[in-house]
Amino acid sequence: MCRAVLPAHAGPRGELGAGPLLRWMDAAACLAAEKHAGVSCVTASMDDIQFEEAARVGQIIAIRTKVNRAFKTSMEVELKPVQLLSAEDHLEHSLAIERRRIRLGYVQVFQKLMQESNKEDTCEEKDAVSTEHTHVQSTELVLPPHANHHGNTFGGQIMAWMQTVASISASRLCRSHPILKAVNMFKFWGPSFVGDRLVFNAIVNNTFHNSVEVGVRVEAYNCEEWIQDQPRHINSAFLIFNALDDKGELLTFPRVKPTTQDGVRRYHGAIARRRILLTRKCMLSAKGDKPSDAWETSNQAYLSYSNIAALTHLAGKPGWDITKTLDNVKIWTHEEGAVLSFKVEMQVKVPSHVAFSLLSDFSLRQRWDRHFLTCEVLQAVSEEEKIYHVTSGPTAGHQPRDFVILVSQRQPCQPQEPYTVAVRSVTLRAMPPRPEFCRSEILCAGFQIHSNSSSSCTVCYFNQVTSGVMPYLAANLTGSSKSIEDTALECIKFLELEDSKC
Ligand code: ADP
Repeated sequence: MCRAVLPAHAGPRGELGAGPLLRWMDAAACLAAEKHAGVSCVTASMDDIQFEEAARVGQIIAIRTKVNRAFKTSMEVELKPVQLLSAEDHLEHSLAIERRRIRLGYVQVFQKLMQESNKEDTCEEKDAVSTEHTHVQSTELVLPPHANHHGNTFGGQIMAWMQTVASISASRLCRSHPILKAVNMFKFWGPSFVGDRLVFNAIVNNTFHNSVEVGVRVEAYNCEEWIQDQPRHINSAFLIFNALDDKGELLTFPRVKPTTQDGVRRYHGAIARRRILLTRKCMLSAKGDKPSDAWETSNQAYLSYSNIAALTHLAGKPGWDITKTLDNVKIWTHEEGAVLSFKVEMQVKVPSHVAFSLLSDFSLRQRWDRHFLTCEVLQAVSEEEKIYHVTSGPTAGHQPRDFVILVSQRQPCQPQEPYTVAVRSVTLRAMPPRPEFCRSEILCAGFQIHSNSSSSCTVCYFNQVTSGVMPYLAANLTGSSKSIEDTALECIKFLELEDSKC
């Protein structure tokens, strides 16, 4: 979808307003969804949105949309799966289900953070401004241009109205024109229709130096409900704004103090949401070589996401070179700039689900991988996420090493997809580095297991090479060591032996 930014779409600074942009994004996404579904669609939820750059009057906005994945849980239609053509399609398809997990787990994470923040005090600063002062209410009548041909109000239209009300609320604190920086993920609880009155209530929940969080609650009434004062909750969203002064510098918002019990709860809610949003932003922009992230409530969902995403991404890369071929084992390498990775492909005569269950339990790994000296579960977060402490023995001239790793395991959603076991390092406060070990990092490693038949599978082990692994890989590639192929053969032997016991 292409749109020219006209003066009617711009705010007082001549920049494209967030309202029109949200409307266009929603409309384009809806068209893509309808093209796939063959029936009319409405927006059910929206993930976090971050606004990075401003567009100006006279510029052209190009919006590209794509259906990444169809989930079969819709009540009204059973959607056919999407066809995956390119490597990028496959990657997006895998990641769509991970983002869905984050959406589904969001409420739990939020509640846990709220419990933690309840122990903290609210702001007691003397010059803090009362949040009451920022309350804005606005009512809109839904007319035919705001809705689709079935009369359902466009989600993007509701978001545009929310944005307007929220920015008025934020402007009460800064006497300037606020700029929308981010919208927190939210979902629509129910539909609204042509003829409904939509009531928008907005108030500042908290301020954070250069930014402010405004919450908006939207309720709908038809004529009858209006008289009886029986609103339907349509959605609630939390919008984050910055503001600039005349010189274009970021303004500092005054601290706020809530005056009601609800206000205090929302004040803490804003802090919890900020923690989640910052973590996500930080993780998405993370470089592969930085020290491992801490495992904390606010980022667990994103760490698991990035763990699975990194392995899926590595496995799907084009340009793997074969460096060694044996009967049942192939060793591949992949170079991209300074990043080197290797892959060990093993043909195993066990069903894929058996290989998955044996390989995802890292406490069994000592049985076939001699680099694992000890392996202890530190946290069994869920069936699918576990944290382990691993030690490996000393190598020539080197101290023994240890690792704290997150192991994320996923079953395939469809038969042609692989089983995945992703591994990366994390930092755990309860397990600081110890003097007797050199703490080492795993950036991205793990297994993908593809089923070949009911009794055989291909296991691929991936590892993005860090400085600790480099000498080991180099010795293998130059032929002075055979430890990679020996370990692979041990792995095959272990899997086939365990399978024969069942
Ligand atoms: P919560 O109170 O848990 O944040 P709600 O859905 O009730 O969830 O409200 C969402 C946001 O909308 C609130 O955080 C607040 O910022 C704003 N809001 C809700 N009700 C009102 C109201 N009556 N007046 C002003 N703002 C409101």
